[in-house]
Formats: sequence, C-alpha cells, structure tokens
Amino acid sequence: MQSFLRWVGLVILETFRLNILLTGGLGYVGSHVAVVLTEAGHQVTILDNLSNCKHAVLDRLTKILGKEPTFIKGDVRETSLVESILKTHSIDSVVHFAGLKSVGESVLDPMLYYNNNLIGAISVLKAMQLCRVKKFVFSSSATVYGSPQYLPIDEMHPLNPESPYGKTKLQIELILRDLVASDSGWKVVALRYFNPVGAHDSGLIGEEPNGTPNNLMPYISQVAIGALKRLKIFGSDYETLDGTGIRDYIHVMDLAEGHQAALEYLSEPSEPLSIINLGTGYGCSVLDLLKLYEIASSRRIPFEVTERRPGDIASCYANADKAFKRMGWKSKRSLKNMCEDSWKWQMSQALKK
Ligand code: NAD
Ligand code: UDP
Repeated sequence: MQSFLRWVGLVILETFRLNILLTGGLGYVGSHVAVVLTEAGHQVTILDNLSNCKHAVLDRLTKILGKEPTFIKGDVRETSLVESILKTHSIDSVVHFAGLKSVGESVLDPMLYYNNNLIGAISVLKAMQLCRVKKFVFSSSATVYGSPQYLPIDEMHPLNPESPYGKTKLQIELILRDLVASDSGWKVVALRYFNPVGAHDSGLIGEEPNGTPNNLMPYISQVAIGALKRLKIFGSDYETLDGTGIRDYIHVMDLAEGHQAALEYLSEPSEPLSIINLGTGYGCSVLDLLKLYEIASSRRIPFEVTERRPGDIASCYANADKAFKRMGWKSKRSLKNMCEDSWKWQMSQALKK
C-alpha cells in the first residue's frame, strides 16, 4: 500500500513538475526564485553571464537546496546558446530576469541598457520561438508607471517611464503584446515589481550591490553594520505623514513566490498576456523603515536629512488586487521580517570578510 502511495505521489509530482530556465538566475531576485521553485519540486536551469553576481551564489544555493542547480555561464544575447539550453534541458517555461537594473547608469549609458536588456529579451524570445517553448514570465518594474497620477497604482495606470532603464522594460512589454497577438500559443506574464528587499532567512543569499548602494534598505543595512557612516535621507518636506518618501517594500521571498504563482497560472487556462503588479499594497516612509531596522538590528542608525534626490517622487505603492484575483498570490511577510532577514544577510556577509 505504502509503495503504491509513493508511486501515486511520484506520478503527481512528475505531472506538475516544470522544467524552467531562469535567465539571470544567480542574481538577487533570480536566486531566491531558484530556491522557491526547486523546493516546490520544479527542475531549474540557470543561465547567467555573471556580470552582476558572483559564482559563489551557486554554492550557497547548493547549501540551501542540498543539491546543485544546473548552471550554464553565458550571455542571453547568444541566441544559439539559449536555443541549445532549451533543447538539452527540455525546458517548458522561461523566467527572464537577465538585465541591467540601475536607473542612474542607464541615464549615463543608455546604449548599454538598450543593448543588454532589449537585445537580450529579443534573443531569448527568438530562441523560444525556434524551439516552440511558449511560456514566459518577465521581470518588469513599477518604474514603467513613472510619476504616479493616482495611488495605489493599479495595472491600468498610464505608462510613462522616465529613464532608459524603465523604457527598456516598457518596450519589452510592448514586444510581448505583439508576440502574443501574432501567435495564440504564447502564454506570458509580465510582473511589475515594486521595491524588493530582504533576503532568504538562511542568511546565505541576498542582495549584493556593487559599491555604495543606491537603494534605501541596502544603504541602511551598511550603516547599521558600520560600513557607512550615516544615512542621508533625501528630503523631509514631501507631502507625506512624516515628510519622507513612501515606497511599497516587498520581501524578496514573497516576490519569489509570486513567480511560482505566475508559472502555475500559465499552466491553467489564462489570458495570453497578463500584466501583474507584485507589491504589498502598503506604503512605508524612509523614517519608518529606519526605525524598524533599528529594532531588527538592535543598533542605532545615524542619519541626516539632505536635499531631495533629483527625479524622486513622494509616494509610490501598488494596488496588488490583480495578483490575488488571477494567481491567488498575495504577500505574507511584514516589514519587520524584511528588516530582520536583511540584517541576518548583512551580518553573515560581515562575518565572511
Ligand atoms: P541582478 O542584477 O541581481 O540580477 C540580474 C542577473 O542577470 C545578474 O546575475 C546578471 O549577472 C545577469 N545578467 C545581466 N545581463 C545578462 C546577460 N546579458 N546575459 C546573462 N545574464 C545576464 O538584478 P535583480 O535585482 O535580481 O533583478 C532581476 C530582474 O528584475 C532585472 O531584470 C531587473 O531589472 C528586474 N527588477 C528588479 C528590481 C529590483 O529592485 N531588484 C525591481 C524591478 C525590476
Ligand atoms: N532614500 C534615501 N536615502 C538613500 C536612498 C533612498 O532617503 O540613501 C529614499 C528615496 O528618496 C526614496 C526611498 O528612500 O524615498 C526609496 O528609495 P530607493 O532608491 O530604495 O527606491 P526607489 O526610489 O527607486 O523606489
């Protein structure tokens, strides 16, 4: 009886097991998604050119998962390589993270961004087309909305990305629109992330910004550990409750589970292209995040208020209802969890040095 039940279990697992290619899968978001998908029983293959991550992430994933994920070092712009991976690993779905993501850098060097992000996405889609692999999840961004015209921001909000980075995200979404219109076999979800923060609760993987961080949470964590002197709060005269900027911070593990939900949604009868916000639906100010981080780290975090950062907006947070209605997904982890897991990751990084 027991062996029969095990057999039934294996048959069910095989039926629902997906073979998924994660482009950029050793990066911050991709590595957390690799954990969630592998733990859900899916087979994951990672393609990354290591331009913004370390090879060591593979060892850390192996530690968390108890087995080494399949990894290929290479560039998504090499279409023949992507094609051969799709065939060799019998891939049925692709999650496309590979891309450059710094807004400031994209303003200084737009061609770098159009080349890497646009050509990269086109190359992956071309290889998928050639191999008849037609399930695609795309890492888009809330930056496609530009300055909010109303809050919370739902998916119908007008689109007006202000940086070359944001424009590459919108252009890829438009390509996806044309693609699904041309061939009814495609099933695509574009996920518009709000502000991913935090880390896996093992403290083994997390965000590793190059140089001084631009984003708030990694900056706070480096002040807390003593690597940076004090946080500069960019403006305290916004029209918000405490005058500091408000964002929708989402735990990276919640975001990762959103990708699992998207992939499973693609296996059900669903519309050809779904565009879905991944956020919590709640805004948090700079000062509130700072206070929560002080509690999580049991450290005082020095700060000074400076000028507003050019291009910043007062408030931005998601209407995350569509993700729940379509995919049954909503965020579970609190700001306290985000700060605690970020701090655990920061501490483990400091111990390695
Ligand atoms: P990341 O830089 O940590 O990960 C991206 C990975 O892609 C890196 O490991 C990098 O080495 C790899 N890569 C880049 N170009 C490549 C190429 N041409 N070929 C192969 N690999 C390549 O970034 P992340 O934070 O994990 O973000 C993942 C995706 O989500 C990106 O597309 C990003 O634009 C998008 N996104 C991120 C955020 C965020 O705040 N982290 C917010 C919104 C959207
Ligand atoms: N911020 C800040 N100091 C920093 C980095 C960010 O005061 O060193 C503020 C920023 O003005 C914004 C919020 O923190 O109000 C979130 O900024 P982040 O760059 O993390 O996200 P984004 O603005 O890109 O959504």
